[in-house]
Amino acid sequence: MTQGVLQTYREFLPITPATPMITLGEGDTPLVRSHRLAEQLGLESLYFKLEGSNPTGSFKDRGMVMAVANAIEHDSKTLICASTGNTSASAAAYGAHCNLSTVVLVPKGNVARGKIAQAIAYGANILVINGNFDQALTMVRELSSRHPIALVNSVNPYRIEGQKTAAFEVSDALGDAPDYLCIPVGNAGNITAYWKGFKEYQETEHTTHTPQMFGFQAEGSAPIVRGEIIENPETIASAIRIGNPASWKSALEARDESGGIIDAVTDEEILAAYKLLARLEGIFCEPASAASVAGMMKSVAKGLIDKDKMVVCVLTGSGLKDPDLVNQIADIPLRELGTEIDDVERAILSM
Ligand SMILES: *Cc1c(COP(=O)(O)O)cnc(C)c1O
Repeated sequence: MTQGVLQTYREFLPITPATPMITLGEGDTPLVRSHRLAEQLGLESLYFKLEGSNPTGSFKDRGMVMAVANAIEHDSKTLICASTGNTSASAAAYGAHCNLSTVVLVPKGNVARGKIAQAIAYGANILVINGNFDQALTMVRELSSRHPIALVNSVNPYRIEGQKTAAFEVSDALGDAPDYLCIPVGNAGNITAYWKGFKEYQETEHTTHTPQMFGFQAEGSAPIVRGEIIENPETIASAIRIGNPASWKSALEARDESGGIIDAVTDEEILAAYKLLARLEGIFCEPASAASVAGMMKSVAKGLIDKDKMVVCVLTGSGLKDPDLVNQIADIPLRELGTEIDDVERAILSM
């Protein structure tokens, strides 16, 4: 039976005797070694952390299980979040699992189809807001302070605590911390969480060092890179379409303390990486996730990554979340044929 991250890493988490040890089987996700892309880039050891293998298809479940356990411990009956999709899918799933009601505020027109499908299926109360993510987040922060409703966005420190378990898993799987950790940056909770996890593992002598943190934003929504709030963030990668990251300051700390970088990648670079991962590695992640690989490739090209060192790219969510975007890389025509085997044979032989 799967233990879940609360049980597995309880000594590192804010767990009390009153914390319910809930799980949907989050964590323990695969760390897959790259063959073809690593070879193309001349990298000695490149790995992908497949966070799309979590119960709702993104890393958000790691933090959500901790935040929801804490909400239950403090007698909350309702969860609330603002979300570009994955946080709402995760909140709705854990809410359903724990018999809590879940309210999600989603910015209009900015949410991938698979994610909203999940929130609907899990029975969340969905409010579509005619505004962007940052405006929705401001509202849920205010509403949770007015009412006994648990805010489960990553401004909730318990989210960060749960999410740091991914750094433990990466280190456990490799036997030590990697040299570089490449990760997409939206609200910047995840880069904050990984950095916290890597530091704690080093302090407790589970690892001998910490990685350089390489965070990547999308060009059209790169407030940290530009050093200013972006009023109307734009990118195809909806999970990182955020103009005013909640964990901005701690992302800068992760960058600076680790000797890393936070850089931007274009939508074209993101789509190219999204396609390469699928075509070269058999890994279908969502576009936001591919930003880590796009950024890694850009950094290799710039000479910022030592090719003999160990590189881990975090693939934050599943490609099935955003099925519409696959049309952007659909370059093999779909052909419709009758039932004549000769026609099918001819089609195959002409490929
Ligand atoms: C939430 C999310 C991100 C961004 O993570 P932050 O913690 O907001 O920086 C990236 N990719 C996916 C798939 C996500 O769901």
